[in-house]
Amino acid sequence: MKIILASNNSGKVKEFKSWMSEYSVEPFGEVMSKFEIVEDGKSFKENALIKARAVYDRLEDKHSIVMADDSGICVDMLGGEPGIYSARYAGVDATSLQNLDKLVYKLKEMGVKMTPAHYTAAIAIVTSLGEFCVHGWMYGDVIDEKRGHNGFGYDPIFIPSGYDKTLGELGEEVKMQISHRSNALELAKIILKSLKR
Ligand code: IMP
Repeated sequence: MKIILASNNSGKVKEFKSWMSEYSVEPFGEVMSKFEIVEDGKSFKENALIKARAVYDRLEDKHSIVMADDSGICVDMLGGEPGIYSARYAGVDATSLQNLDKLVYKLKEMGVKMTPAHYTAAIAIVTSLGEFCVHGWMYGDVIDEKRGHNGFGYDPIFIPSGYDKTLGELGEEVKMQISHRSNALELAKIILKSLKR
């Protein structure tokens, strides 16, 4: 079963490939020319479906399955910011580092050293048999300083519940066991198994 991932985010692609090692997973940029997908949904779910549908519509082989992940981090004290805007928190063309630095700056500005936050991942699956969407979450806290170099995005400031280190320090193996994406992928795999003909 061939799975096309409607993302070219290297961090996400790496995590998908590790988690879905029994499947052939390719980012869409490897099977078609890259194009921009306008993510104008109002929720993680809407944006995940927008991405997966956009790629599925351009597929020649409609037997392939398209998966998309829309994810982000929500900080309770900031009213859920950056949320669905996590990838463009510091501006439309902002880098991951600029987005991370903006969040660190906001925490410092408020004089907050550590405060509750959670990651959400919505994973959409678009196939010839129908469309599906599942979610996963990871709860913890964000801190006002970057620690460690593992993971991507906001991982250097996120401490998962039950740990005293950031995901940047904990590394891939721990993240694989507890992450929002892993939790959503576990559910996605149940759907994929049911689609096997
Ligand atoms: P998307 O590609 O539009 O779904 O944006 C996702 C953004 O949320 C990423 O660019 C990161 O900033 C953030 N994000 C999502 N998942 C993670 C994660 O596992 N670690 C760190 N940052 C994440």
